[in-house]
Formats: sequence, C-alpha cells, structure tokens
Amino acid sequence: MTFFFAGQIVGIEGYVGNVASGLVAGMNLARSLNGEELVSFPLTTMTGALMHYVTHAEAQNFQPMKANFGLLPPISGDLHLRKKERYQAYSDRALKNLQAYMLSYGIMRTSVL
Ligand SMILES: Cc1cc2nc3c(=O)[nH]c(=O)nc-3n(C[C@H](O)[C@H](O)[C@H](O)COP(=O)(O)OP(=O)(O)OC[C@H]3O[C@@H](n4cnc5c(N)ncnc54)[C@H](O)[C@@H]3O)c2cc1C
Repeated sequence: MTFFFAGQIVGIEGYVGNVASGLVAGMNLARSLNGEELVSFPLTTMTGALMHYVTHAEAQNFQPMKANFGLLPPISGDLHLRKKERYQAYSDRALKNLQAYMLSYGIMRTSVL
C-alpha cells in the first residue's frame, strides 16, 4: 500500500506551498491508481524545489520551509541583476520548464507560452 502525504505534516509552511503539496500528492495518487509513472516537478519551479527540500533535507537539523526564491537553483550571472529582475528571470524559467514538463507528461496538451 502506498501513502501520499501533503500539507504542513511534511514540513512545508504557509498556504501556497501546502496547497502545492496537495496538488502533487493528489496528482500522484490518481496516477498511481491508473498505473502511471509518478511525477515530480522540475527543481526550477517553486513546487518542485519545495518538494525536493522536504524530501531531501537532512532529518537531524530539519527546518520547516516556506516557498521562497532561495530554494531555486541560481541562474548563471543572476547576481548582476537587480532583485526584481532576478525574480522575474526565475519566474520565466519556471514557467518555461513547467510547460515543457507538463507537455512531456501529457498533463497539458497545448503550449500557452
Ligand atoms: C495564526 C496563524 C497564522 C498564519 N498565517 C499565515 C499567513 O499569513 N500566510 C501563510 O502562508 N501561512 C500562514 N499560516 C500557516 C498556514 O496556516 C499553514 O501553513 C497551512 O494552513 C497548513 O495547511 P495544511 O492544509 O497543511 O494544514 P491545516 O490548514 O492545519 O489543515 C489541517 C486540517 O486537518 C484537520 N484535521 C486535523 N486532525 C484531523 C483528524 N484526525 N481527522 C480529520 N481532520 C483532521 C484540521 O481540522 C484542519 O482542517 C498561519 C498559521 C497560523 C497558525
């Protein structure tokens, strides 16, 4: 039997991150029941980065985590950008990667970007 957990019980703080964890758990429960491969979102998306954090952080010093830009892998040269431009670049990269990922898994059928 497989269990799917979501919400702050997994170590996520805040409304948005916990809703995202529910989405991932729900999608994977449905995929599991249909015999489909489970999905984990790209690390460059906030959902993927948060899920990666709670599943890979060191247990001994674990700290609950909110959605935050510090979880995302840096973009080469981004330190030269102002904060607003850096965050926009992270957001653009996330949307592009998320769309490619969803198209590849058939979760989304048509490109919107
Ligand atoms: C005072 C306060 C202010 C906050 N302000 C913010 C904020 O401004 N922004 C933000 O992003 N986050 C905020 N948070 C954090 C946010 O509320 C939580 O991170 C988020 O609600 C967690 O969502 P969840 O679904 O995991 O858990 P919860 O929202 O706690 O939902 C768990 C649900 O499970 C139910 N439940 C518990 N035990 C059982 C059981 N045995 N059987 C059936 N049901 C059960 C509970 O009744 C509850 O409805 C705040 C938290 C607090 C306490």
